[in-house]
Order: sequence, then structure tokens, then C-alpha cells
Amino acid sequence: MSEPTGSKRTRPHLALAAAMILLAAGGLPTTGCSSEAEQARTIRKKGRNTFYVCKSCGASGKTRIGYDDKFPIRCPQCDQVAAVGGLKCTRCSRIIEAQNKPVYTCPHCQFVYDNRLSGPAPGPAAPNAAGP
Ligand SMILES: [Zn+2]
Ligand SMILES: [Zn+2]
Repeated sequence: MSEPTGSKRTRPHLALAAAMILLAAGGLPTTGCSSEAEQARTIRKKGRNTFYVCKSCGASGKTRIGYDDKFPIRCPQCDQVAAVGGLKCTRCSRIIEAQNKPVYTCPHCQFVYDNRLSGPAPGPAAPNAAGP
């Protein structure tokens, strides 16, 4: 019987307190994981090493790009934003343009990269082939 007046008086106050707690919590997001965030920022600043092949001047090599950088990047040789991602050919050790295809050929040594084989690995014992 005494509830209605009491709850009416306390509710707005509670809501205000809850809002203040939310504000306070939202205002201090860095206290708990500041070192982690800083580490991530340092890693981001450092960037990563990548191979590149310039579509403009044909230069290729290794360079350092930021984690947020997207290809094409600026070519260190000709300063054109025409350098695409590259990879080192395992056969001739030259840098070739990275292809987004399952099968591609090294333009230098004609070595064929067949990434279709990297899918399901052949198991030691296939269930169908079991038997003497
Ligand atoms: Zn270039
Ligand atoms: Zn090659």
C-alpha cells in the first residue's frame, strides 16, 4: 500500500544513478587495456614487410607498408601508386606479382603454382580404400 509513492520517488533517482554509472564506465575505456592498445598501435605503426611489383616501372622488391595500407601502394622507385603485392618465387627467387588465382605461372622461370592442391590433404588411410 505504501509502495506507489515510494517507488515513484526513488525511480528517477535510480535512473540518474544508472546513467551516471554508464557515463563513468564509458569515460574510462583505456584504464584496463591501455598497454594492449598501445602495443597494437605500435605494431600498426611498424607496419609489415611485403614484396611488391610495380605495374608502372616494373620494379620489384621488398618494402614496408602499414597494416592499413592497401594495394596498390606507392612504388619506391618511380613514386607512382602502382605497386601491387608480390611474392617470392620459390624456384627462381625473383619477386612476382601475387595472383588471386588458384593456378598461375612465374613469368621468369615458368614455374607453375597450383594452389588447388593446398585444399584437402590426402589422408594416410582413405575409408574407401581400406582392405588388403
Ligand atoms: Zn614503379
Ligand atoms: Zn620463378
